[in-house]
Amino acid sequence: MEAQKQEYHPEPFSTGYFADIWNTAKSLFYGMSNTMSHLFRAPSTVQYPEVDVKATLPDRYRGFLTVDMDVCISCRNCEKACPIDCIWIEDVKLDRVDIIGNNGKPSKKMLYPVVFNIDLGKCMYCGLCTEPCPTDAIHFTKEFERATTDFHNLYFEFVSPEERKEVLAKREKFEAKEAEAKAKKAAAAAAAAAAKPAETATPATPPTEPPKS
Ligand code: SF4
Ligand code: SF4
Repeated sequence: MEAQKQEYHPEPFSTGYFADIWNTAKSLFYGMSNTMSHLFRAPSTVQYPEVDVKATLPDRYRGFLTVDMDVCISCRNCEKACPIDCIWIEDVKLDRVDIIGNNGKPSKKMLYPVVFNIDLGKCMYCGLCTEPCPTDAIHFTKEFERATTDFHNLYFEFVSPEERKEVLAKREKFEAKEAEAKAKKAAAAAAAAAAKPAETATPATPPTEPPKS
């Protein structure tokens, strides 16, 4: 099949010396009119760091993650939800009254994290960890000023070594108490088992009939 020829019709002044001058002047005019129009518009950017940028950020801005350890119940939902495994939690079981919260009242926690780390150098700020948190403990902040050349500076630990030591000491007490309760229970069960045959044993001689009056 023969290819159809398309005829080319150049527009007037689209080529040539005067057309180049005309096109240059026209593009200069468009560019400058666009630039000048910005003199009358509200600025979209702010001078950093002179202006307090954080105050201009929207409420849903995703800066660094933080965790409120006072309300974290160590359910690990956030850890499971993270698609790239940048959250690492380790916890211990404690009595509900073994930990006193910041409000001075006994905490209702059964599990208490002794390690809660987030590798923010790896984090992609997807927010998947914040959605399943039942207590809103993990959430984004407006913090972003942590430029660094060392990735280790972006590895955040939310349980300090002192807090960990304190909780582990409580854990030891908790375990000792549990072991003591178990031992007492076992001893009581053994004593009950030993007393049972004596109570239920059949008497060797039948009881004598009471004397007839
Ligand atoms: S924001 Fe996304 S990548 Fe970052 S810790 Fe949460 S789930 Fe993981
Ligand atoms: S989902 Fe919330 S409550 Fe559960 S471990 Fe994570 S931060 Fe703590």
